[in-house]
Amino acid sequence: MRSFLLHLSENKRLAPLIMNNALSRRVARRFVAGERLDDAIEAGREVNRAKRSASLDLLGENVSDEAGARRAAEDYLAIFDRIAREKLDANVSLKLTQLGLDLGEPLCQELLEGIVAHAAELGNFVRIDMEGSAYTQRTVGITRRVRAKYSNVGTVMQAYLYRAEQDVKDLVSVGCRMRLCKGAYKEPPDTAFPKKRDVDANYVKLMKLLLSSGIYHGIATHDPAMIHATKKFVRERNIGREQFEFQMLYGIRTDLQEQLVREGYRLRVYIPFGADWFPYFMRRLAERPANLVFFLRNLMPQSTRPHGE
Ligand SMILES: Cc1cc2nc3c(=O)[nH]c(=O)nc-3n(C[C@H](O)[C@H](O)[C@H](O)COP(=O)(O)OP(=O)(O)OC[C@H]3O[C@@H](n4cnc5c(N)ncnc54)[C@H](O)[C@@H]3O)c2cc1C
Repeated sequence: MRSFLLHLSENKRLAPLIMNNALSRRVARRFVAGERLDDAIEAGREVNRAKRSASLDLLGENVSDEAGARRAAEDYLAIFDRIAREKLDANVSLKLTQLGLDLGEPLCQELLEGIVAHAAELGNFVRIDMEGSAYTQRTVGITRRVRAKYSNVGTVMQAYLYRAEQDVKDLVSVGCRMRLCKGAYKEPPDTAFPKKRDVDANYVKLMKLLLSSGIYHGIATHDPAMIHATKKFVRERNIGREQFEFQMLYGIRTDLQEQLVREGYRLRVYIPFGADWFPYFMRRLAERPANLVFFLRNLMPQSTRPHGE
C-alpha cells in the first residue's frame, strides 16, 4: 500500500482530480496549513504560542521551467521578510527541485545562494529538504558548496538510505547542521533498507553520531521509540536540551508535541502551505494506513458511512 500510494504521488493526472475535490481539500487541511502565506503565518503564530518553533515550507517540487524556479526563489525571499516582520520564531524548509534542480545545478545553486544570503542578513536559517535518492548526491554537493560560503544552511539525512551514515560523517566534518528523518520516498532495496526494523536501527545509530558532534541538529520523528532512544542518549551523555531540537510535522501527533514541550525539550513544527499540496499529502497518506481510511471515509457520503461515525 505504501509503495502504491507513493507511486500515485507522482501521478500528474491524478493530482488535479484530488486537488479539485472539495472533500479531499478538507482532509488535506489536516496536514497542510492552507494555500496562502497568510495561512502559514497564522499557523506559525499558533505554533509559537504553544511554545514551539516553526519551519515554513512553500509546497512545490520538480519545477520544470526556469521562470517557475525563479518565482519560487522570489517567494522564499518574501517569506523570510514576512517572518522577520511578524517576529515569528520560524525558519524555512525548501526543496531543490523547486529551485530548478531538474534544469541544472548552476541555476539551482544560484537561486539557493540568493535565498541563503537573504536569510543570513535577517539572522535566519535555510533547511534543504531531502527528496528521492536520484537527488541525494546533488543535494549534498550543493549544500556543501553553499555551506562553504554561508553557515546558515543545512540539509536532511534519511535513515533508510545505506549511504546516509557516510553522508552524516562527511557533513559533520564540515560543521553542517542536519535534520534526521527516516525517509518518505519510494526507494529500491539496493538503495534503502526495505525493513522498518533496519531503518529504525540506522536512525538510532545516526542520531547518536549527530548528537555527539556538538553541532545543533534536528531529530525529526513521531516515533515514540526513536524519541525514547534520543532522550536516553542525551541523558547518558549529558547533552543539554538546548543543544538539539525535536521536529514534527504540522497536524501529526500533537499530543506527543505537547508532551515534549512540557518536558522541556525544544520542538520545531514543519508547516507546509501552498497550492501544490498533492505529493506532500500523498506521502502523508502513505506513512500511515489509518490516514488513508480517514481520507476514504471522508469521501463517502454521510449516509453510507459505517455506524458510529
Ligand atoms: C520535521 C520533519 C521533516 C521531514 N523532512 C523530510 C525530508 O526532508 N525528506 C524526507 O524524505 N522525509 C522527511 N520527513 C518525513 C520522514 O522521513 C517520515 O516519512 C515521517 O516522519 C514518518 O516517519 P516517523 O519517524 O514519524 O516514523 P514512523 O515509523 O513512520 O511512524 C511512527 C509513528 O508516528 C506516527 N505517524 C508517522 N507518520 C504519520 C502520518 N503521516 N500521519 C499520522 N501519524 C503518523 C504514527 O503514530 C506512527 O505509528 C520529515 C519528517 C519530519 C517530522
